[in-house]
Amino acid sequence: MKTIDENPDEIKIHISENLAVEADKIIYCTNAFSSKFLEKEEIIPARGQILLTEPIDGLKLRGTFHYDEGFYYFRNLDNRVLLGGGRNQDFKTEETTDFETTEFLQKHLENFLREVILPGQDFKIALRWSGIMAIGSEKTPIVKQISERQFCAVRLSGMGVALAPKIGEMMAEMISILI
Ligand SMILES: Cc1cc2nc3c(=O)[nH]c(=O)nc-3n(C[C@H](O)[C@H](O)[C@H](O)COP(=O)(O)OP(=O)(O)OC[C@H]3O[C@@H](n4cnc5c(N)ncnc54)[C@H](O)[C@@H]3O)c2cc1C
Repeated sequence: MKTIDENPDEIKIHISENLAVEADKIIYCTNAFSSKFLEKEEIIPARGQILLTEPIDGLKLRGTFHYDEGFYYFRNLDNRVLLGGGRNQDFKTEETTDFETTEFLQKHLENFLREVILPGQDFKIALRWSGIMAIGSEKTPIVKQISERQFCAVRLSGMGVALAPKIGEMMAEMISILI
């Protein structure tokens, strides 16, 4: 999506130079990625980096864990360890919508794995990736009408699984009242 033109009769979404879609209403619900269209709203991207080990013989870790106010999160996946976080070690770099990993944070997570979760155990990293959350100075999501034909449900503060079902209902109700 490139630009949006709203007029009293319809809304036009320009997808590329030669392609546009007309709609009655639109809802921005791509969380951090909506920030480029909703410049007046406080939507700060927050990247989270993750890694997953190869299977580890005799892994004792079982369950889901948080550490350091939830900035680190880890669990077993069968005999593998899934570990993410450490964003608080490099806040500014992680304020981005780029799906990348950085050497600094991946090394930091590996050290955490070596020193805190799996001391004295060998492991190999199978996969590394990142995901993008959206945060602001408040934890409250932004769920509202922003013009006659535009709505938004964004900034889920890393709680999208938990909040999205309720926010979906709220948005459906908001739009149906206005139809
Ligand atoms: C680091 C991190 C930690 C999180 N922790 C939590 C937490 O603790 N609690 C919580 O409630 N939420 C958490 N979330 C949020 C949660 O992960 C998301 O809200 C949730 O995954 C969104 O699910 P979804 O199915 O809507 O989208 P996604 O899981 O993002 O799935 C979208 C799918 O659509 C595919 N896709 C995208 N574009 C296209 C296209 N053009 N064509 C075809 N397919 C496409 C993608 O490949 C993807 O598979 C976290 C997010 C991150 C990044």
